[in-house]
Parts: sequence; structure tokens; C-alpha cells
Amino acid sequence: MKTVIIGGVAGGATCAARLRRLDENAQIVVLERGNYNSFANCGLPYYIGGIIEDRDDLLLQAPEEMSRKFNIDVRIRHEVVAINREKKTVTVRRLENGEQYEESYDKLVISTGSSPIRPPIPGIDSPRVCTLTTLPDADAIKTFLQNNARRAVVVGGGFIGLEAAENLHRAGLEVSIVELGNQVMPPLDFEMAQLLHQHLASKGVDLHLGEGVAEFSDRDRFAELRLSSGRMIEADIVILSVGVRPNNKLARAAGLKIGERGGIAVDENMLTSDPDIYAVGDVAEVRDFVFDDPAMVPLAGPANKQGRVAANNIAGIKDSFGAVQGSAIVRVFDLTAAVTGANEKQLARRGLVRGRDYEVAIITQNPHAGYYPGARPMTLKLLFSTNGKKIFGAQIVGREGVDKRIDTIGTAMRLGASVFDLAKLEFAYSPPYSSAKDPVNMLGFVAGNILSGKVRFCDWDAIEKISDSLVLNVREEGELRAFSLPGAVHIPLGELRRRADELDNSKHIIIMCAIGVRAYNAARILMQCGFENVSVYPGGALFYRLTHYGKTESRPIHPGPAAEDKQIPLT
Ligand SMILES: Cc1cc2nc3c(=O)[nH]c(=O)nc-3n(C[C@H](O)[C@H](O)[C@H](O)COP(=O)(O)OP(=O)(O)OC[C@H]3O[C@@H](n4cnc5c(N)ncnc54)[C@H](O)[C@@H]3O)c2cc1C
Repeated sequence: MKTVIIGGVAGGATCAARLRRLDENAQIVVLERGNYNSFANCGLPYYIGGIIEDRDDLLLQAPEEMSRKFNIDVRIRHEVVAINREKKTVTVRRLENGEQYEESYDKLVISTGSSPIRPPIPGIDSPRVCTLTTLPDADAIKTFLQNNARRAVVVGGGFIGLEAAENLHRAGLEVSIVELGNQVMPPLDFEMAQLLHQHLASKGVDLHLGEGVAEFSDRDRFAELRLSSGRMIEADIVILSVGVRPNNKLARAAGLKIGERGGIAVDENMLTSDPDIYAVGDVAEVRDFVFDDPAMVPLAGPANKQGRVAANNIAGIKDSFGAVQGSAIVRVFDLTAAVTGANEKQLARRGLVRGRDYEVAIITQNPHAGYYPGARPMTLKLLFSTNGKKIFGAQIVGREGVDKRIDTIGTAMRLGASVFDLAKLEFAYSPPYSSAKDPVNMLGFVAGNILSGKVRFCDWDAIEKISDSLVLNVREEGELRAFSLPGAVHIPLGELRRRADELDNSKHIIIMCAIGVRAYNAARILMQCGFENVSVYPGGALFYRLTHYGKTESRPIHPGPAAEDKQIPLT
């Protein structure tokens, strides 16, 4: 059996290696148009920033090595220009000399990935406007850095743009990010992205949200960007990172079925509409785990797993990919942001309504015991059905332990867990690593409390939205110096039982403390005193100030919770 694989990086290389392990007699040909097969594109930003020092570390398997170790015929700088399904051949162009030849196959795997989008903006072809997808791209960027580039503009605030921004900053450049949307990292909901906005600004990154680039102009020694607002910024180098498009041209021309999201339509075995052709990775359109509708998620994990699934099926082992959950993580300077499943924007787009179809828990928790040095709070957001049985998704932003929590929730979702199961999960605990009740347990507890009516949380922007609201601040006197909302009623938690009758029961009372723990306790007191319209401001004053970043005064935001909050359990 002869298998030809188009594209020799994440999905293609995995498919080839797995196939060889399963079938020593298979003939395997990998056709890769680039200069390298099997290189670590995810490592490129860190190579630019100098964290990965040696370029060779990014080269995972050279063609000769793949050939020697795996007996795979890897041909770099060989571009497939057509798939001839009737003849079961592909037409290949040797990029060295432009010659073309035909290569036959029994089974074909398309792993052509995706390409960065280059919108038709005047001046976009300037040599200073780079993308970051391949090693030669990284080489070109490194050359700018070696030639004393001082100012960089990253266009696009997705995860590659953020990684590029962090690493250019690390390399000593002044960095601006220009993002058309009102937030960076679109998989996060806006209020969670605000935590990143505040952090980026604190690192000196010049953030332009809600602005596009109208024009690039080459000046003598720099590029000038005119933004949609008319504002001008200068850059020695521009990194364009505004999204990717699946490389589906070959498949489309060959008459393979293309899905509604523009990827090659595949079944659960990664088989296309042709029984001898598989498609894997960024170019394949798979199913979304949460809603079971078509999904394109250009990430390395799915690409690698899909390559393996295709190889298994080619070798006669029935295997299915399942669906993609969109679990992703990015480091943004000292913060880490991670997501799994759907966000609230997606729920709203599908017509789901908070309170009717889903609920939200947002909590601020320390990643490890508060009394053990170094604990810095993380913010977790969980979206779940109103019967608690389905977890739609989660988002976490914090400094430490974010990866562990997002992967726990992602795994729980994959195994069909309810929010009540999150409460029961058992975590390995000692003070440097967690708390006796891990933040994921806490999410489960809080979700359970919301569903049983023990507590209600308001939206992050409820104070502006609800006109008849009264903000009750239950922090201690001394804490008000750091931050207090104008017009808030101040009754410290310890005095609330005695002074509850000072509050106007006809108003919607929004209770705020430092991170949400004392506010929950206060809500329980008021609810048991007969107050009916009471809600807790999620994540407390810390979250309020971060989510209202750019809107409140600009005194430094203290990251640590008040001592009282560390001691009072949230449950
Ligand atoms: C800078 C950067 C950072 C990233 N970081 C992360 C990360 O941290 N985490 C994560 O999960 N994902 C990350 N990704 C995404 C991840 O790398 C991709 O999702 C993954 O590589 C997709 O695998 P693939 O096999 O579909 O395509 P690719 O790995 O892109 O491989 C496709 C290959 O096909 C070749 N090709 C295309 N057309 C032809 C043709 N006609 N003939 C021959 N060859 C062809 C291309 O040259 C390319 O080498 C990152 C991507 C980039 C660019």
C-alpha cells in the first residue's frame, strides 16, 4: 500500500511516523513545499524572543533523519499542484527547477495546514510587514532585530499576536498591538480579556483596541501605519497576525466536499468525501465538542491527533477523532490565559440566555494555599447549563496553575462531567500546589450554590446596567483607601447582622468585597434576613477594577486579596 501525504509538519509528520510504526511494508511519501518538514512552528515566537536560543532546536526531524529512522521518502521543496482523483495521482512541482511529475497513491492524506490572512490593505506588501508562520519568516524577523529594530507593531491580538508581542518586548523593542475587535484573545469573554489588557498596559505595551490599519507606508527607515481612527504609528517591523485561512485550494479544485466553515469536510475517521483521501489538521473541518456543529480550530493538538487517527484507519485500525473542544493556552508576560469549550459570546450568538439556558460562575481564587508564600489570585469563569449537567466551557486568567485547572475542567467536560462532579474531584494537595479545596472544586461549589438559589452573582457590568441598584461594600474601613466605588454603602461584614435594617430592601443590592468571599457571606446573611434582591459582585473589587480597566481611576491595582478573604471559605 502506498500512502502519499501532502504537508510534512504537524499532522502530516505525525501521520507518516504512526503509519510506519503500524506497517513496516507500507510505502510512505511526504511531499512538503517548504524548506523544512516537521519543525516546531509553535516555538517560533520564543525563538524570536531569544528564549529558544538555538534555531536547530526547532527542527524536529530533518528529511534525512525521517528517511533513516522511519524509512519515509520525504521530499521538501516539492509542491503538490493538483490531485487527480480518477487516476489516483498527484501532480508535483519541484520548486528547485519548476519541473512537474505525477506521483501515484493508494491512499492520500492532505495536511496542508493554513496560511496567514493578508487583507488587501494599501502598502501591505512592504518588506517590513511580516507574518510568523515558517522558519524563514522567523529568520526574516530576527534579521530586523539584529539590524537594531526598536519599534514593533503587532496587528492582531490573537494568541500568536500576543506571543509575538511578548517576545518582541523581551527582545528589547517597544511594542504596540493594533486589534480591530474590542479585545485581545477572542476565545475569552471581554471581561476576562480586560485582565490581559490591564497587564499588557502595565508592561508598557501600547494597545490600540477597536482600530484597524487603514494603510502601511514605507518611509526611509521605518514603516508608518495609519489606523482607522486616523492615528499614525511608526514601526521598524510589523507582524501581521490577523487569523488564518485553510489551505483548501487543492481539495476544492479536486472536487472534494468543502464544509460550511471553508475546511475540507471529513467524517469522524478523518476521511473526506473521497474514500481514498483523508484530511487532517488546520485544513480539515471537524465537529465542535460542545454543540456538535462544524468547527475549524487551527491548533497543534488536534492536528497531531488527527494525523494519528488517519494513519490508524489507513492501516486498517478503525479509529475516530471525536470532536474538538478548542482547549488553548497562552502566556502573556506574567499572566497565563486559557480556555476550553464555548465562551459566553458563543452561547449568546446561539440564542442561549443566561438564567434560562445557562449560568455563569466567576470566582477569584489563589492557585495554592493563601498562607504559603507567593499566592497570587487567578480568575476562573465557568459556563454551565441550568440543570448543572452540562459544562459549556471555562476560561481562566492567572499567574500560576492555570494550565492544571483548565485541563482538569476540559477533561471533565470530555468525560461528560456535571458541575456537581467538579465539586467532588479529588486533587493532590499540599500548600505549595493547591488548597484543600482546589479552585476547580470551588467552581463546582459555587455553581451548585447558584443552581440551588443560595447565591446570585451579577454581571461584571451590572453596576452600570442596573439603574435601581445599591452597591453594598462589606470590606473593612482600611481597605477603602485602596479603592471604593462612589455612592457605595459601606457596612463591614462583621457589622452587617446588626446594621442590615439600614439597607433599602426595595433596591437590587449588589455586594462587593475584595475578591467575592465576604460578599457571598454577606449575601447569605441578607437573604436569610428577608432581602430578596441581592447579588454578589463576582471576583470583588479586584475583578471590578480589572474589568473596568481604562474606565476607573488609574491607581495601581493590588493583586492580592485581603487577609480576611483568605480565611473565609467560599462555600
Ligand atoms: C507561530 C505559531 C505559533 C503556534 N503556537 C501554537 C501553540 O502554542 N499551540 C497550538 O496548539 N498551536 C499553535 N500553533 C498552530 C499549530 O502550529 C497548527 O495548528 C498546526 O501546525 C497545524 O498542523 P497542520 O499539519 O494542519 O499544518 P502545518 O503544521 O502548518 O503544516 C502544513 C504544511 O503543509 C505544507 N503545504 C501546504 N500546501 C502544500 C502543497 N500544495 N504541497 C506541499 N506542501 C504543502 C506547508 O508548507 C506546511 O509546511 C501555532 C502556529 C504558529 C504559526
